[in-house]
Amino acid sequence: MEYVLALDQGTTSSRAIVFDREARVVSVAQREFRQFFPQPGWVEHDAREIWATQHGVALEAMERSGADPSAFVAVGITNQRETTVLWDRRTGQPVAPAIVWQDRRTAPRCDQLRGDARAAARIQRKTGLVIDAYFSGTKLEWLLDRVPGARARAEAGELAFGTVDSWLVWKLTGGRVHATDPSNASRTLLFNLHTQDWDDELLALLRIPRAVLPDVVPSSGVLAHTEASLFGVALPIAGLAGDQQAATFGQACFAPGMAKNTYGTGCFMLMNTGTVPVASRNKLLTTVGWQGPPGPHRTAYCLEGSVFMAGATVQWLRDGLQVIQSAPEVESLAAQVDDTGDVYLVPAFAGLGTPDWDGYARGTLVGMTRGTTRAHVARAALEAIALQSADVFAAMTRDARIPLKELRVDGGASRNNLLMQMQADFLGVPVVRPQVTETTALGAACLAGLATGFWSDGAQLAAQWQADRRFEPRLAEGERLAKLARWREAVERAKGWARP
Ligand code: ADP
Repeated sequence: MEYVLALDQGTTSSRAIVFDREARVVSVAQREFRQFFPQPGWVEHDAREIWATQHGVALEAMERSGADPSAFVAVGITNQRETTVLWDRRTGQPVAPAIVWQDRRTAPRCDQLRGDARAAARIQRKTGLVIDAYFSGTKLEWLLDRVPGARARAEAGELAFGTVDSWLVWKLTGGRVHATDPSNASRTLLFNLHTQDWDDELLALLRIPRAVLPDVVPSSGVLAHTEASLFGVALPIAGLAGDQQAATFGQACFAPGMAKNTYGTGCFMLMNTGTVPVASRNKLLTTVGWQGPPGPHRTAYCLEGSVFMAGATVQWLRDGLQVIQSAPEVESLAAQVDDTGDVYLVPAFAGLGTPDWDGYARGTLVGMTRGTTRAHVARAALEAIALQSADVFAAMTRDARIPLKELRVDGGASRNNLLMQMQADFLGVPVVRPQVTETTALGAACLAGLATGFWSDGAQLAAQWQADRRFEPRLAEGERLAKLARWREAVERAKGWARP
């Protein structure tokens, strides 16, 4: 038997999953790591901890599979995106804490960049992104400016920048390879979607020296081998993609018009738009889905909507508000009431992403009365996840011009049946959950497995995709629209709260 190892480096935990040729999960290992919130709006990780947990779970998953290390034919990597790491090329040590995608510290700088409307339009056209603190560019600029000596050292070629994929490749290859793939690069504000390369004008604008940047390599293809000392054998690293693009691949959304939504820390909806980038007219992002493997899946572009707080809202109920002890408990608590009693929770704890793009919005709970209980709040939290996704879906439908017939779902919170029913109700189209909800890791495994001939083509992968459950919409259209309109009123109340 032969296997593919997928490394899934997430925002709150590092996971490793071993897949067999039928794309079945053979073994899993997972370890959480620390989140740092040093100031309001700041979120940091320790990149050393990211590497240590990722290496640890990879070894654990390989061991649990019972297979000899030589039975592993490829490694695929998928990762939390945009999170920015800057390290010393000589020592391999980070020079500062990693700035996580949720971090808002560069919101004022983004205001400044948006101030020049013409430059802003050019950035948007080249990158497919909106100017927001979410993306790596201003985070990297911040590190180069604030870490003593960093800018001079970066210009001298002593420092390396990477998103988490690059950091892991660096560590896996013992510092031999500094690379990223287009799906990750397209989240930096530094990468030109049309030329598929770093862009000198963007680099100049954000004052980023080219010497810090990784090489851009295909998402599917052998890019290096791991250091033999790490796993006992040198394994080919053959897949590399940001988590949301990997999940889109793992959901077999290979044809234009197919879309998926992942319910993890945040919610990320991606729709395949085919082989050319499509500019959004509704504040969605244009992004590279994946590059390679050769054949019909050569390069795919996607439209994306990003919701910053989804499952993390449930974490906040658990850890911040302490009204539940575990995330799955939210379902039974929310089911204690039939509705929220007109209470809305706008989870703008880290600003708002698509379609509002407001870095200064903050969490808001509106509509409470003396009768409001923690069950209402829990239900409002679940509704908020589904309502934010419904806003994204509406934008996507407008951009796509063809009605989306259904939505494929995955991610930790997609196990919540109440939430999935709400989602179908608020979208007005069926929501379909696959049997394998580990689609992010599966996508990374597929990219690696296709590159090494472990799987022959996408058709084989698409055939392996199987539905577990389909949630049909139950709300009358009038009720659905009224609900969405009421939600938008609540969102308006959350906007701009933290604006200086
Ligand atoms: P990530 O990869 O972003 O770390 P996961 O896909 O592992 O996220 O999903 C974990 C998230 O899902 C957490 O934020 C958690 O609060 C949420 N979650 C897990 N189970 C449930 C559930 N049954 N209902 C609602 N949210 C859940």
